[in-house]
Amino acid sequence: METKEINNYKKAGEVWKNVIKFARKKVVEEISLLELAEKIETKIIEEAGLAFPTNLSLNEEAAHFTPNGKKEDDRILKKEDLLKIDLGVQVEGYICDGAITINLNNEHAKQIEANELALENAITKAGFGKKIDDISKEIETTLKEKGFNPIYNLGGHGLAKNDIHSFPSIPNHASGTTAVLEEGAIAIEPFATTGKGIVSESPQVEIFSLKEGKNVRNIYGRKILEKAKKCSGLPFSERWLRKETKLNEFQFIIGLRELMKASVFETFPGLKEVKGAMVTQSEKSLLILEEKTIVLGE
Ligand code: MN
Ligand code: MN
Repeated sequence: METKEINNYKKAGEVWKNVIKFARKKVVEEISLLELAEKIETKIIEEAGLAFPTNLSLNEEAAHFTPNGKKEDDRILKKEDLLKIDLGVQVEGYICDGAITINLNNEHAKQIEANELALENAITKAGFGKKIDDISKEIETTLKEKGFNPIYNLGGHGLAKNDIHSFPSIPNHASGTTAVLEEGAIAIEPFATTGKGIVSESPQVEIFSLKEGKNVRNIYGRKILEKAKKCSGLPFSERWLRKETKLNEFQFIIGLRELMKASVFETFPGLKEVKGAMVTQSEKSLLILEEKTIVLGE
């Protein structure tokens, strides 16, 4: 990997670390999730670029929830909530993707600790030429020893320039794959749950990415598409588009509907544990180089 690329990843990691620290301080009882997301994203933009909309998922929600920015979007954090903050920073398209879980009243401290330990243990198994399945096994074993299940149908992934989910996939359970890690960036992200460990897609979709640049006739659709194209293939949220296009709610809905009909967008539906069980997440990005492994943001 070229030095310039490595430096961009390192910079993204540093910013990620700073913003996570900042976010931890901002998480207080009664904060609105919209305010929290906007504060985090403003902070990211001060130092680098956004890699994807800040995911703020609560309780049984595992991922892909972000405030939609509508007037009636008024989710407020309660002290008993289990909040996952998953944020992405990019520097010239090179991404650091990482997440933490916070619970203000410490009711779920054991689950958070187990999840963090699973990530730490998994990181010790990562390196150039190392087996991906050893990382997966480590996650599954650690979580089960602590009395939790991994989310079986969620996992880590490769990171590439302007590509948040690239090859390889890194399951959160032993999968039997014989694949080994090559040079490149990856994200390891165990999810722990008190449930069986399966998430399903909810009808709610707040995050999208551009699949095809083909245009639509509708004037509002065109305006939305123009903004979506600026994300260089990385994910964006309805909230961002709503803000940037400055369309009124009616125009926005019409425009978005036209784009959805034309299959221009890929969707990232909200993911929830099927039985409503509590979910935690911890995630870090790593740079796998032949000579060494760098944990971004450390
Ligand atoms: Mn993430
Ligand atoms: Mn990820």
